[in-house]
Amino acid sequence: MHLIETGPGPGSGGGGAAGVPDPAGGPAAGPVARVVAVELRWLALHLAADHRAAYGREHRRPVVVARVAVELGSGAGAGAGAGGGEVSWGWGECAALAAPTYDEEHAGGAWAVLCSHLAPRLLGARVPAGDDLLSTLTGVGWVLGAVRGHRMAKACLEMGVADAVLRAGGRSLAATLGVEAASVPAGAAVGLPDDAGRAREEVARAVDAGFGRVRVKIAPGCDVEPLRALRQAFPQVLLQADANGSYSRDSARRLDALDELGLACIEQPLDPADLLGHAELVRRWRTPVCLDESVRDPADVEVVAALGAAGVLCLKPARLGGIGPAADAAARAAARGLGVWCGGMLQTGLGRAVDAAVSGLPGFTMAGDLGSPWPPFAEPDPFGPVPVAAGAAAVHRAAGVGPVPDPALLRAVTTRRWAARA
Ligand code: MG
Repeated sequence: MHLIETGPGPGSGGGGAAGVPDPAGGPAAGPVARVVAVELRWLALHLAADHRAAYGREHRRPVVVARVAVELGSGAGAGAGAGGGEVSWGWGECAALAAPTYDEEHAGGAWAVLCSHLAPRLLGARVPAGDDLLSTLTGVGWVLGAVRGHRMAKACLEMGVADAVLRAGGRSLAATLGVEAASVPAGAAVGLPDDAGRAREEVARAVDAGFGRVRVKIAPGCDVEPLRALRQAFPQVLLQADANGSYSRDSARRLDALDELGLACIEQPLDPADLLGHAELVRRWRTPVCLDESVRDPADVEVVAALGAAGVLCLKPARLGGIGPAADAAARAAARGLGVWCGGMLQTGLGRAVDAAVSGLPGFTMAGDLGSPWPPFAEPDPFGPVPVAAGAAAVHRAAGVGPVPDPALLRAVTTRRWAARA
């Protein structure tokens, strides 16, 4: 690995590409992509309006993005590093938030593990690059799999490789996944309704923008009364509540009153680990229980279904480790009759474009958090917003997983850079 420029430095113990087995393996017959460069950027973005959830109030929205270069070849020895093959670049986004409150991952930790462990493992690795994108994604997952957890960081590199391979072939993520829709239904999310007037205004703005479903954050002390008021003000709107795991089994008794409001679902009322507690709520409420933070791996879908711990799942490609694991999880959910929607992570237009394409898969049965009725960032989004009209988010149909950034806008918000070559 040749380091071009460092932020915190490559750190210790990544192992490097030289020690990583090659998933393209053996005398490969098909197209192969060899990862030859990874560049990371820290984008110092801020939310246009503070995001209020049970885990706190957020204003900073640092986003780590990766630019990945692959060298393409085919046949035995393809992409073996001799050079001369076509090089394609792709972009990936890490969804980790500023603080480890929604999830254990956070942007600073993701940066560290990307520089020190994940990028060094990916550099020099070869992955299949044929028509079957899932083979490419599986190959990346295999290369990074020796590192436990850190799914959002892994998803960033998976997205970057996928984008590079798709761009080289002139293919879109949506077309490759078999998603033919030009747009997919989108819902909107509003923060804790701790100010009744502001909450009503936010929901009205979402409804006026055409969103047919609105998700409202709740937390102990800010739950039944504001939701009841919103239900009375907007009787026709599909409402759902998201508690981000902020209730105990005892305090969740209070949420029994939400069962009268005809919500689409009540999301993650209990701690992510308390699947048995969620199963109790499934038995007690008519309203479907949705799990978000509890589902971290495609195999978790089977555990949730076996325990009867949810009727609906919020699947986020970023939280699951990427596009491949999300597609896998959605297929497992569909086979078990679970409703699925795609949650947002306050991403740029790049991450949202991936979510929109994935939301077109048949396993996704409900509107996802794919757009925003207002600009999400205080600064211009270097990747641009996902177009949303009449409650539907446009699916990116050009080559790659999503848009490329505007160079000037990207430069304006980049405060740290790290890059290395194989
Ligand atoms: Mg959630």
